[in-house]
Amino acid sequence: MGRIVKGNEQFASEDIRKGISEKMKGEGNYFYGREHSEETKQKIREHHPHLNMRGEKHFNWKGGVWQTIRRMALRRDDYTCQRCGLREPSIMVVDHIKPKSIFPELLLVLENLEVLCPNDHARKSVLDEKQYNVSSIKKKQKKLIYARNNS
Ligand SMILES: [Zn+2]
Repeated sequence: MGRIVKGNEQFASEDIRKGISEKMKGEGNYFYGREHSEETKQKIREHHPHLNMRGEKHFNWKGGVWQTIRRMALRRDDYTCQRCGLREPSIMVVDHIKPKSIFPELLLVLENLEVLCPNDHARKSVLDEKQYNVSSIKKKQKKLIYARNNS
């Protein structure tokens, strides 16, 4: 008979936690030896202000401008997918027509927002990838910052 364990109680013991944090410090950790210096972190924050803000300043902060403008878009489009016409308020996604990674200045512009269902949002992401090569641009941005910080 096994004893009843509440939630993750069995993982919460000090020994195990210590074991995990020891592992995290070691070479097994992906970030081993790569930790960003404070200066580097500051530079990343400067170059990606919309991605690196925390709490109240993060664009997705619950009480923030994004949540307000997101609601405006949902109301404007009446919670209806702009591609297929599905109306299912609880699952709708507010999409950036021009990707926010390429056009950060359009992050909070209502005209750049459209309501999509999850399916059409997934399709749209594939199209964005083809049209703008989003992931390679993100990679280039990362490389650029890395080069700046290590020259
Ligand atoms: Zn749809």
